[in-house]
Amino acid sequence: MIKTSLLKANAVSKLYPGERTTGVKNVTLDIKPGEITAVIGASGSGKSTLLKLFFGLISPDKGEIRFKGDRVWGPEEKLIPGHDEMKMVTQHTDDLNLFAKVWDNVATLLPNTDLKAKKEKTDNVLKQLNMTHLATRQVVDLSGGEKQRVAIARAMVTQPTVLLLDEPFNQVDTSFREALQQDIRQVVKDTGLTVVMVSHDPAEVLSMADELVVIKDGEILEKGQPRNLYKQPGHLYTAQLLANCNVLTSKQAKLLGVTSKKETIAIYTDYIDITKSWVGKAWEVKQVMFKGFFEELLVQQDNITVRALNKEQGKYKEGDKVNLKAWGYLEY
Ligand code: ADP
Ligand code: MG
Repeated sequence: MIKTSLLKANAVSKLYPGERTTGVKNVTLDIKPGEITAVIGASGSGKSTLLKLFFGLISPDKGEIRFKGDRVWGPEEKLIPGHDEMKMVTQHTDDLNLFAKVWDNVATLLPNTDLKAKKEKTDNVLKQLNMTHLATRQVVDLSGGEKQRVAIARAMVTQPTVLLLDEPFNQVDTSFREALQQDIRQVVKDTGLTVVMVSHDPAEVLSMADELVVIKDGEILEKGQPRNLYKQPGHLYTAQLLANCNVLTSKQAKLLGVTSKKETIAIYTDYIDITKSWVGKAWEVKQVMFKGFFEELLVQQDNITVRALNKEQGKYKEGDKVNLKAWGYLEY
């Protein structure tokens, strides 16, 4: 028996004409069930377009989207746009009833034919998303992050097979964001929900994704597990999206002890050992930027500026002479 995929893009293109043709170009992507697939790309790289294609909010020019083997209908072919077994949340999802309670905002998506199931399912999703304490609050009184939780609870309560998330955590402050990300990961583990999310935030995709897909100018550049893509990005674009990195010529990289025949060298800011220097030609610390549990040093030599991560707080100050040695690098 041939195993059909849950959700698949087959050579899908959707092009927007203009000075530069943009959109999504010839994308083939098989979404793994019960996992979080995250798509990362620069702004304008086609992330939202790809998600809308999956959901059926726009139709491909070429190729097709298939859900459990059946074609996903576009808006021209379907009265209510969007696939019935999928739900999508964006940062603009704003169909909440502000003056109703959180619980009612979530429960209202379920039918009244089985009130017991309605109550159970609503209570359950609020519990899964750690928002039981918000149940009786009016939405109008919630913070941006809490409202976003309600939007996600509404998407989850009908138990869709696939949840599509388009940068849904953008408006949520950092501490809330991480908790929400953890809760969604837990739901995926516990329920087998399939998630496709798009984002430009490396911290978000690296910690959330089982499978990470890199999109550039509408095309898939590479994909893999977050750890592997971070450590061994096949393209400089990926390295720059996922990590804080210095991009140097191989001649410049020599100053950090790197010998390479390749043209371009990428060195992550945390791949550099810094030591104090008293002799000869050295780098000079131009700026010390406090980042919380580490500092980022802006270090210069002969018009070359390098950023290096320093965990020994307060060890260096502006004007100090230092030696830099890269213990790891990527070559392109
Ligand atoms: P991302 O979500 O990665 O920022 P989008 O998928 O929103 O990218 O957009 C990809 C490109 O397509 C952008 O250059 C955008 O300006 C263009 N685009 C998106 N939607 C439309 C549209 N409806 N009409 C014309 N151009 C569009
Ligand atoms: Mg977008």
